[in-house]
Amino acid sequence: MSFLLLWFVFATTVPVAAQEGWSDDDSGGYTDAQSMLTQAAHIFATRFNMRVYPLPTLKVVSREELRAVASRISRGTAGGNLAGLYRTEYRGRTKTLSEIYVVTGLPESTTMAVVAHELAHAWQADNRRGGTSTELHEGFAEWAAYKVMESLGETGEVQRMLRRTDLYGRGLRRMLAIERSYGTQAVIRYARNARG
Ligand SMILES: [Zn+2]
Repeated sequence: MSFLLLWFVFATTVPVAAQEGWSDDDSGGYTDAQSMLTQAAHIFATRFNMRVYPLPTLKVVSREELRAVASRISRGTAGGNLAGLYRTEYRGRTKTLSEIYVVTGLPESTTMAVVAHELAHAWQADNRRGGTSTELHEGFAEWAAYKVMESLGETGEVQRMLRRTDLYGRGLRRMLAIERSYGTQAVIRYARNARG
């Protein structure tokens, strides 16, 4: 018996400075990462009609565990500031695994942003028709996380995302430019269909 086995891994990084900015007074009403995942999925569905079913399994792991998972699956994703990743596995056309990993110890608002970013990758895995560049792929996930944080009034997190000068920040700004010109659904259509 043989299966075609496909793996996709999409990592998220957060600047190390933000990872060290742990504080307890930033609870923002989140009880735990699982409820953040449920909340992000609810916002995706109600605001953008982006549905992810079933929800990925969520794993909250140490920085070392996250790096170990990343390097087992794919080389080059195991950077020192890795904050989360989405991992999926298909056998033929059947999705047999769908997991979000998020590193423990981040500020809660950053954890929420990472969970939302990875959930957007889960949506992309189910909905994207064509291949796309890393910048656009990550830019869309970052945009989706940005919209979640914006709708939760997390202005500090929104500012952190906008300040990034790496491919996440560049990708986010490209998506925001599309949104300004053509609207929210245009960004989502673009994410489904874009090539290059
Ligand atoms: Zn990503």
